[in-house]
Order: sequence, then structure tokens, then C-alpha cells
Amino acid sequence: MKAMELNERQQRILQIVKEEGPITGEQIAEKLSLTRATLRPDLAILTMSGFLDARPRVGYYYSGKNGGQLFNEQMQKLTVKQFQSVPVVVNESASAYDAICIMFLEDVGTLFVVNKKSRLAGILSRKDLLRASMGKQDLESVPVSIIMTRMPNVTMCKPEDTIVEVANKLINKQIDGVPVVREIEEEGAIVHEVIGRLTKTNIAKAFVYMASDDLHT
Ligand code: ADP
Repeated sequence: MKAMELNERQQRILQIVKEEGPITGEQIAEKLSLTRATLRPDLAILTMSGFLDARPRVGYYYSGKNGGQLFNEQMQKLTVKQFQSVPVVVNESASAYDAICIMFLEDVGTLFVVNKKSRLAGILSRKDLLRASMGKQDLESVPVSIIMTRMPNVTMCKPEDTIVEVANKLINKQIDGVPVVREIEEEGAIVHEVIGRLTKTNIAKAFVYMASDDLHT
């Protein structure tokens, strides 16, 4: 829900329920000299956005939450799996030159590096590649495995994490994105299957979603 503005009628309904709840839709309609059908959309909006709660055979009552609290709640409901993108991976034996080509072709700023078994081995950012390009080495003979940030130093997230948790990680670690992973046990060790990508762009999309009307419909 965005920090929405209630129309005049919705504010009157809210006032009535605050003072007299629990109260049925029928009773509210009577107080406003309107039909129950006319009020239905307003009651739906007030209930969906969390200002009011409704119980069958009891009626409507005030949730006691202000706009800020409701906004917070909606924000905490946004999860990684709702907003994640497809991951772009490169094998750890690929060269820095290959990695640069993939970055351009796939139009991403971060590549996830995987081992022969397709499990997460490291992460490669634009600056890692720029740094490698500053030396005199031949980029085609430099494997990404020597320039990447390697496990266990890779910051990751899970599909069920919240967007807010990931945003905090990005800020604290000063990074642009994280791989979305599923932990699995293989040959007695915990390894990570890369299933998605969550970057600042996805967080910007979640932000726009919070300001959209989709939340009310
Ligand atoms: P840029 O290269 O555009 O500054 P980042 O800020 O994301 O991109 O990366 C900065 C450094 O942090 C790089 O050395 C990169 O390897 C590393 N890094 C990027 N993402 C992660 C991550 N999720 N976990 C650990 N290290 C990361």
C-alpha cells in the first residue's frame, strides 16, 4: 500500500468505525444515509489497505494502525522471489576477456562465477575487470578465478529474504548486487546453487511497485 490519501467518505467511515466499532456495513450505511452497495468499494479499500479489519458476523473494527505503520508492514512483505532477475553466470575457468564480453552481451554489471559442478565459486564486478585491465597481462590468459571475490566471502541471499534485508546488505557491504541461492548438501559439504540475481535495479523496481496503484487492486 502506498501512503495513500483517503477520500472524504472513506475518512468519515474510518471515523465512525473508530468511535463505534465493531459495526456492520449495514449500520455504517445507515449512518451515512447511503446504501450498503455504494459503500462496498470504500470498505474494500479500507480493509485491503489495513486501516480496518473485518470479521464475519461481528463487523468492521479499527485496526489501530496509522499510515506509516501500514506502509512499514507492506514494505516488510516484499520478498526477493517477487523481484529477482535471472542470474548470469560464468565458469571459473573462463578468461577475464570472456567475462568482459559476457558482461556487455548480457548487459549486467555483476557476473556470478560457478565451478565445474555449477555451484557458486565467486563473484565478479566491473571494477574487478577494470583492475585486471590496468596491468600488462593478456586478458585472454587471465582466468576469472584469480580476479574474482571468492567464496566464502560472497554475500548472498535467499528467495524468501525480504527486499529490505537485501537492501541493508548492499548498503553495509557497499556492493551492487547479490546472488540468490539455494543451499544444498553435496558430498558432506554445503554448496550453493545460483537461482537468481538481486541488484539495486530490482530494489528500485520494488520501490516503484510500492508507489503504484497495483497494491490496491
Ligand atoms: P563495482 O565494481 O561496480 O564497484 P561492486 O560495488 O558490486 O561493483 O563491487 C565492488 C567489489 O565487491 C568487487 O571487488 C566485487 O568483486 C565485490 N563484490 C560485489 N558483489 C559482491 C557480493 N555479493 N559479495 C561479496 N563481494 C562482492
